Amino acid sequence: MTQEKYLSKTVSQLKPSGIRKFFDLAAGMEGVISLGVGEPDFVTSWNVREACILSLEQGFTSYTANAGLAELRVEIVRYLQKKFNVSYRYEDEVIVTVGASQALDIALRAITNPLDEVLIPEPCFVSYGPLVSLAGGVPVPLHTKAEDQFKLLPKQIEAAITDRTKALLLCSPSNPTGAVLNKQELEQIANMAEKHDLLILADEIYAELTYDEAYTSFPSLQGMHERTILISGFSKGFAMTGWRLGFIAAPAELSQAMLKIHQYSMMCAPTMAQFGAIEALKNGLQDVEQMKKSYRQRRNYFVETLNEIGLPCHLPGGAFYAFPSIVNTGLSSEEFAERLLLEQKVAVVPGHVFGESGEGFIRCSYASSLEQLQEALRRISIFMKNFQ
Ligand code: PMP
Repeated sequence: MTQEKYLSKTVSQLKPSGIRKFFDLAAGMEGVISLGVGEPDFVTSWNVREACILSLEQGFTSYTANAGLAELRVEIVRYLQKKFNVSYRYEDEVIVTVGASQALDIALRAITNPLDEVLIPEPCFVSYGPLVSLAGGVPVPLHTKAEDQFKLLPKQIEAAITDRTKALLLCSPSNPTGAVLNKQELEQIANMAEKHDLLILADEIYAELTYDEAYTSFPSLQGMHERTILISGFSKGFAMTGWRLGFIAAPAELSQAMLKIHQYSMMCAPTMAQFGAIEALKNGLQDVEQMKKSYRQRRNYFVETLNEIGLPCHLPGGAFYAFPSIVNTGLSSEEFAERLLLEQKVAVVPGHVFGESGEGFIRCSYASSLEQLQEALRRISIFMKNFQ
């Protein structure tokens, strides 16, 4: 008997993540250096782990308020104000979520009517398109280009607008390209949002990890607070991926709509993780700075060496990914990644999994120790000799 008939059409049509496939292949091999995973190589700071342990010792094992512990929401509001100059009310404008992943999910479900279109600059995080589809909407890719350093141009928005366009899902710094939009570039996008009455879903999960210029948070721009759902979390900047904790900040009407979905589908984010996050925001920002310093050093070394060994790569302004071109090799990104893994035991992610415009590139995470990066680059340079 086949169970396929029970599945929803939307789910049947979703493709499994192209990243997973690679991990499964790498998992069966020994001695692989993985530049594949999108997570920090740091363990969460001890004081944060201790705060979580203490909460358990004290017996705080119940549900929290649906929106999250009030103390955590107060800290999130303080943090956003201080760091990014954006103001929210903790009472009704902030929701603590199960990672930025759940934040994206409830944001998209709250705003999407069947066949509404959501603009998604690509290459992008693999979940965006599927989450739009699961919400009943239509993902509309906007193909950013290497010669623009993978930055979204206002004219690309203009060209994609239809009477069904509802929102733009903006990710800066970007996974997988590391591109960061500066204030002026964001202002041009803000003009488009105003002109076409778009809602902006600003995924700022990598906001702590920018290396060159001062960071501008989208809702801090003139007039944008009211048309932005800000999505962020603890996974990347605070090295807390396994804690599954993120948050949403948005004007009350939007937040309260998302809270309805959250309370029915999730109830609340894990209580013990929320206690850890309070500590992270109160006393963890110095550690974030230290980690950032270390990523910056690794970025500079890694990207410089990639360029030296024949893989042209722009200097990414944020996150912890390099996105070099592999066009010179004549291979597709899938072939490149597969051969590099089998011949030299280095795992990277083929660019096409991040969207059509990612073809011709690979994503390498440089959130690995310097020794691992050196060894990976040594192996990649041997691999590149095949093509000289
Ligand atoms: N957005 C982007 C751009 C990401 O790269 C990721 C994680 N890879 C997420 C959201 C999800 O993060 P979280 O662990 O908070 O669910």
